[in-house]
Amino acid sequence: MEHFDVAVIGSGPSGASTAFHLAKKGISTVLIEKEKLPRYKTCGGGFVYRGRKNLPFDISSVIEREFHTVDVFLGNTLHFQTVREEPTISMIMRDSFDNLIVEEAKKQGVTLLEENKLTDISFDNDLAILTTDKNTLSAKFVVAADGALSPTAKMAGWTEETRKLIPALEYEIEVPEEDFNRLKDQVRFDIDAIPYGYAWNFPKKNHLSVGVASTKKVRINLKKYYQEYLKTIGIKTILKESQHGFQIPIAPRTDGFVKRNVFLIGDAAGFADPITAEGISNAIYSGVLVADAISESELNLEKASALYEEKLHEKLIPEIKTGLWLAKWFYEQKTIRNVMLKKYGQRFSDAMADVFHGDRSYPTDIKQAITRKIKELVF
Ligand SMILES: Cc1cc2nc3c(=O)[nH]c(=O)nc-3n(C[C@H](O)[C@H](O)[C@H](O)COP(=O)(O)OP(=O)(O)OC[C@H]3O[C@@H](n4cnc5c(N)ncnc54)[C@H](O)[C@@H]3O)c2cc1C
Repeated sequence: MEHFDVAVIGSGPSGASTAFHLAKKGISTVLIEKEKLPRYKTCGGGFVYRGRKNLPFDISSVIEREFHTVDVFLGNTLHFQTVREEPTISMIMRDSFDNLIVEEAKKQGVTLLEENKLTDISFDNDLAILTTDKNTLSAKFVVAADGALSPTAKMAGWTEETRKLIPALEYEIEVPEEDFNRLKDQVRFDIDAIPYGYAWNFPKKNHLSVGVASTKKVRINLKKYYQEYLKTIGIKTILKESQHGFQIPIAPRTDGFVKRNVFLIGDAAGFADPITAEGISNAIYSGVLVADAISESELNLEKASALYEEKLHEKLIPEIKTGLWLAKWFYEQKTIRNVMLKKYGQRFSDAMADVFHGDRSYPTDIKQAITRKIKELVF
């Protein structure tokens, strides 16, 4: 049976970048992926700048468009625009983007086992024994990077009750040339285009990625809101359309991020941003943290586990927790939020751009700050 220091399950941005960093540090790493690469992944493909800053190689070959300006709409009445020198959002297609990270990881010496679906984990002393539908191997560390549904986490004993997964629907569409030319230069978010959420239009090289996401787990006809949104952005004719629905975990698990030899990252851990449901940048960031924890521990399980938890709680978890509170307030207190946006909307748009660039985090005193502003408006 072949042995590796680390087995990473899943070759999305979290897994592939973790494998890259581990191999770069000289740690023997296998990347196990159930699909044949490159594979399609349901995603708007909007990659924010803070994520780009965390990738130590050039990704320009897979960028379809770059947007320095982001437009945020609230119905017909409010529109805010924030412009930045660096591209706030880069548009990517996940098949080529994820595959590029995998290729970079392979260059560092990572062994890729594609078309290998993990089906079982067992533990033997301090080793994990991993069974896929094609192979059996052992590893000292297992990094579960297998996305929102994370079969690895289930196999390793995590429960689903503590999770918050929200539904999102995304369409890759081709539209008549005049519509495409009208829409291709603007990345836009339309708040409240769907209850408790937003719709987006992300222009790619030759098509649009249009979608809707609701931050509340309610029964909702996503398709109906998507169709209404098409009217909002003036699309009457669709030449080609493919529909993709999936879930986004916008709250960290509450039953820990490490069990025995298994470490959770990215969507498997629940690290997408609670306000925007943007998950790629935190997926990559958590990959950096777990790779650092494993290497700093000198492959000591206990130390690595403590280090990883410590690193997560330095910035990422507090930021997501504040984001959770803010998202609940933002999407559920519409009346007062709209009054606030009328006065402070441009500041909000600029602050979100700062978060996208990694220049600031959600303020930890957000509750007090909002209460203060409401008082200023009311009295
Ligand atoms: C509709 C929609 C739109 C979105 N839009 C955006 C956006 O515009 N910007 C953004 O930043 N985020 C967006 N997200 C969120 C983003 O897609 C995720 O947060 C991100 O993909 C998480 O990366 P990951 O590496 O953790 O997991 P994933 O990218 O999901 O990768 C998991 C990998 O694990 C593999 N895998 C699963 N099970 C097994 C198994 N048993 N054995 C082996 N391999 C396995 C899968 O095949 C996959 O390759 C969107 C999500 C949805 C659903």
